[in-house]
Amino acid sequence: MAFAPDNHRGASAAAKLILDGRMTRVRVILLNAALGPLDYRAPPGVTLEPGTIVLAPLGPRQITGVVWEPERAPTDEIDEKRLRPLLQIYDLPPLNAPLRRLIEWTADYYLAPVAAVLRMALASASALDGSRTITEYRATGLVPERLTPQRAQALDRIGNRQGLVRELALATDVSDGVIRGLVKAGAIEAIEVTIDDPFPRPDADHAAPVLEPAQREAAGTLVRAVQTGEFAPFLLDGVTGSGKTEVYFEAVAEAVRKGLQTLVLLPEIALTEPFLKRFGARFGCDPVAWHSGLRQSQRRHAWRGIVTGDARVIVGARSALFLPYRRLGLIVVDEAHEISFKQEEGVQYHARDVAVMRAKLEAIPVVLASATPAIETRQMAEIGVYRELRLPDRFGGAALPDISAVDLTQDPPPRGRWLAPSLVRELEANLEAGEQSLLFLNRRGYAPLTLCRACGHRFQCPNCTAWMVEHRLVNRLACHHCGHVMPPPRACPECHEEDSLVACGPGVERIADEIAALFPEARTTIVTSDTIWSPAKAAEFVGRMEAGEIDIVVGTQLVTKGYHFPNLTLVGVVDADLGLSGGDLRAAERSFQQIMQVAGRAGRGEKPGRVLVQTHEPMAPVIRALVSGDAEGFYAAETEARREAAMPPFGRLAGIIVSSEDLAEATETARLIGRTAPRVENMAVFGPAPAPLAMLRGRHRQRLLVHAARSLDVQEVIREWLGKLDWPRGVRVAVDVDPYSFL
Ligand SMILES: [Zn+2]
Ligand SMILES: [Zn+2]
Repeated sequence: MAFAPDNHRGASAAAKLILDGRMTRVRVILLNAALGPLDYRAPPGVTLEPGTIVLAPLGPRQITGVVWEPERAPTDEIDEKRLRPLLQIYDLPPLNAPLRRLIEWTADYYLAPVAAVLRMALASASALDGSRTITEYRATGLVPERLTPQRAQALDRIGNRQGLVRELALATDVSDGVIRGLVKAGAIEAIEVTIDDPFPRPDADHAAPVLEPAQREAAGTLVRAVQTGEFAPFLLDGVTGSGKTEVYFEAVAEAVRKGLQTLVLLPEIALTEPFLKRFGARFGCDPVAWHSGLRQSQRRHAWRGIVTGDARVIVGARSALFLPYRRLGLIVVDEAHEISFKQEEGVQYHARDVAVMRAKLEAIPVVLASATPAIETRQMAEIGVYRELRLPDRFGGAALPDISAVDLTQDPPPRGRWLAPSLVRELEANLEAGEQSLLFLNRRGYAPLTLCRACGHRFQCPNCTAWMVEHRLVNRLACHHCGHVMPPPRACPECHEEDSLVACGPGVERIADEIAALFPEARTTIVTSDTIWSPAKAAEFVGRMEAGEIDIVVGTQLVTKGYHFPNLTLVGVVDADLGLSGGDLRAAERSFQQIMQVAGRAGRGEKPGRVLVQTHEPMAPVIRALVSGDAEGFYAAETEARREAAMPPFGRLAGIIVSSEDLAEATETARLIGRTAPRVENMAVFGPAPAPLAMLRGRHRQRLLVHAARSLDVQEVIREWLGKLDWPRGVRVAVDVDPYSFL
């Protein structure tokens, strides 16, 4: 290790407790994925139990770490005389044993460094220091005498934002200096924010609902599970609109009564807003939110509330799963079938699966709620590992929407258009009736491909194997994989012909254009991650829908779940065949789930809903299942096909992705991995082959796929196999255990 003994440099004034005197050895896992566990000195007078959060010296730097059981974090012991003293012991409850075991399990299962998982638990570095106030800034409304374009831009974009100088600078796209200048000029003012204010306490009996018999029974089971306080995994399975949220809210209420914390995981932060409203109505206050959109002060406040136990109900994105809850009593994974619970970068974990493991280690109940449970989850219920609670009907007697197929081969849209005449007629009828409609197309932008009419040149991203997608609203071409953008050129870069570029295929913006041409008077809005990028934007959209200010919504998968609009009675699926073209093992299941979810937006109030599904293949099993309402038949056939091919959940997969900026290096390394694949019974290795996304963010990519029997410890095999190999520094080898993406 590259640091000198007894080097006290770096012991900062911030250090709360400087340790000296006679000391004992303590093992620490540092927040640095490149390092193994290290030993430090701790004083004999101070008991440092495992889980204690500390600040340790590392060379000239200071680095946060957590004390660990030496037998669980083996390392080469350094000599007693060379041990360096810890710089600080934070005055915080230690990470408890169940969380430490979860961190180890996640690292082991997903082949990730322990430190990388640990980092997710200590997700707010600034929260480690004790209670204090923080200075944030906000606009005063005053316009300074000297108004540079930069200053004007900052004031124009700041709105009622509040945050650190850095946060405001980022949000308004100016330098920190511009914000500081505005503070001096009096246009922005400083305010002191206390960060350790107690959170409001949810009131379990604030507005307890009247449940229907099936709901009452399911709720009773969950409440008893919270009372018992043992590991108990549940699948809460009910059609859209059947009142799953009300049911698990009763379990949340019971945890609140017992003074326990509840974690509710949602697949997207855009869903937080409707959830907050429902929660507030039931419990009389907001839960504590945890997602990437929080300001640093909010993040710090939430983290401290979580670690002290003051925050009782936490709603968050998947990253909330690893936080150090003091007294966790219940976990709910809502929309549990969503694939966005799978993290695709860094530690490639699946939050649904890790949530079940956390519940097991904490010995508490976990509820997976879904209207369209994943085959993996259904199978666990089938074999009796998860207990299934079913809600068969829609709440309040609302009928399930009527789904029918529009055969595009028989009823094609006019040339250059995308909506079939029968769907257009339904839209017209809905407009006349004053009811709302939703058109679903899972494609952002105006057109997925732009080409030159004269020479056929196609616009491809320079960094990725992907087309540049036209976004007409902001007048640019964008790559959806790396974020590369360019203005649409006037002339073709290949043949230099002017005005020769044509858009191919539809995105949501193009559908909105078609609506504008068909129904100029209709009020249309586009809902994608480009237009709804924050909970506040989502709230604004919900408000306009509820106020009846929108007639037609054109949206991506972002509108398929969570929302409840009673006056929305027509859903049109623009291209039901789109999801099937990917061809991976879950393509049909995913299409089914997505269309069922979007169909579930229709007719949630007193008025019945109808759903039109445009397709070129009305006889495809997915479409037939949707139209006939035979979900069970569809799932049975899909499950059988998986069982026969020994695909998950009946077999196991792991992807190995080799990437490098250097094509030869990537190819060579992938070949080396393929050549050295161990011969193991019940395991086969496919590839290497260029990935479908052969280039991503400037890196060339090769893939291998490991297929193994369920009984095989495939991680152990891979760890040993790759552990023996060396590859050039510029090559990255990522292992994706239980992959959901095959690109
Ligand atoms: Zn051209
Ligand atoms: Zn790109």
